[in-house]
Amino acid sequence: MNTTAYPRLALHVAGQWITEASGGRRPVVNPATEAVLAELPLAGLDELAAAAESTARGFATWRRTRPLERFTLIRRATDLLRERAPAIAHALSLEQGKPLAEALREVTLSADLIDFQAEEAKRLYGRTVPPRVPGILSQTVVRQPVGPVAAFTPWNFPMNLPARKVGSALAAGCSVVLKPAEETPATAMALVQCFLDAGLPPDVINLVCGEPSEVSSFLIGHDAIRKVSFTGSVAVGKHLGELCAQGVKRYTPELGGHAPVIVCEDADLDFAVSASVAAKFRNAGQICASPIRFYVHASRLAAFSERFAAAARALRLGPGQDATTQMGPLTHARRVVEMQMLVDDALEHGARLLCGGQRAERPGWFFEPTLIADVTATCRLAHTEPFGPIATVAGFETLDQAIALANDSRYGLGAYAFTAHLRTAHRLADELEAGMVGINHFGISQPEMPFGGWKESGHGQEMGAEGLLAYTDLKTVYVGTPDGATN
Ligand code: NAD
Repeated sequence: MNTTAYPRLALHVAGQWITEASGGRRPVVNPATEAVLAELPLAGLDELAAAAESTARGFATWRRTRPLERFTLIRRATDLLRERAPAIAHALSLEQGKPLAEALREVTLSADLIDFQAEEAKRLYGRTVPPRVPGILSQTVVRQPVGPVAAFTPWNFPMNLPARKVGSALAAGCSVVLKPAEETPATAMALVQCFLDAGLPPDVINLVCGEPSEVSSFLIGHDAIRKVSFTGSVAVGKHLGELCAQGVKRYTPELGGHAPVIVCEDADLDFAVSASVAAKFRNAGQICASPIRFYVHASRLAAFSERFAAAARALRLGPGQDATTQMGPLTHARRVVEMQMLVDDALEHGARLLCGGQRAERPGWFFEPTLIADVTATCRLAHTEPFGPIATVAGFETLDQAIALANDSRYGLGAYAFTAHLRTAHRLADELEAGMVGINHFGISQPEMPFGGWKESGHGQEMGAEGLLAYTDLKTVYVGTPDGATN
């Protein structure tokens, strides 16, 4: 793979890469320049049916392979992923916008998380249970792959999110139809190519893009598909959940967040500010567990807000491929419009702008790093995930009050706090309503640890040992004596 070129786009259907498909084409655009990078073929019903049938054939083969064999093949694929990381990161940065260093880290971390799943598949233990009645020789509980998977991934982490789903599915013995976001298909194509080059039977993995609602309703409704995994918005996640319910299909939704950050009176303010600014504007805030609502002890509110705003203003915006860029563009034009609507709505409701608040004056879909104070409950921002470079800040007097504010959300994905006190850290870890809590730390997405939300942020987990279990079904097996004799 050329390290600077953007690849020709194709779908992987029934064992073949195809560059023409019956659903037409759409352009893939560089969000930093608005220039067209390439044309993406779109699957129509013919290709979708072929992909679903292919994945059923793939499952029949792959489910019979041993975990060790799967591990060896998957390790070959992740070696290729690491080898190709510079070129893949470049394409990722071009189509998604994030700085190259972030893109590179995403690719190598994806290799690590796939490895963890393949390792873990060797430890998919069952158990033996003593029989309660005579005539039974053994009673065992075993885990088997759930079946062909339909995986839907968004554009904010074009490698990491497909890697989570495809890595766990393949490690568990499932086949996959992956539908990456139409905005960022080249990165997912590169992942699929690594598996194919490592020797994965071609029917085990299909990649389709198309009209999202048509693809998801077709695949979820198809008899071959037994499990659905989706990362994206709450609205789409609920809709796919309804489709899954009709076929009683296993479903793992990883949806949005509205993460609170509590900065306690005793926190190290310099550290809290620098860590918060880095975490907030990483990937231009397009992260489901991105910190959004900062609640700062009243005695530190002014100092925190001033320093945060100064550091945010100082961030260098630019194309991801420029080595000096600290924050790239939003991945598509509609996100810029949404950012402006959220800011304008907050200001109309009496909020105060501390920095940013508008589209950056340059080509591309850039929005200035933004901090807003005095956001009231009537503002959309108070409850809506901005999914962009916007944070809000407010004061609190007591920890009880801070915890109540933090938990006042329909979301429950990530929650963070800064404190020097062990007792406070433990209380917050216990009482914050979120699937992942980071105290003095924003890195809550590690390959070895499960990742998943509470409330409307979703259910089930990805990564960690639990991430693999989500691609298995339990079976209980009773073996009696051949002649019915009591043993
Ligand atoms: P969107 O809801 O239209 O799309 C989000 C993702 O879901 C995209 O990848 C899209 O292709 C896919 N999608 C949309 N409709 C679908 C359908 N019927 N079937 C299958 N896939 C479908 O929103 P958007 O404007 O692209 O993104 C904005 C919102 O999406 C954000 O506000 C954020 O809440 C959410 N989002 C969340 C994550 C996450 O990591 N949880 C990632 C990206 C977007």
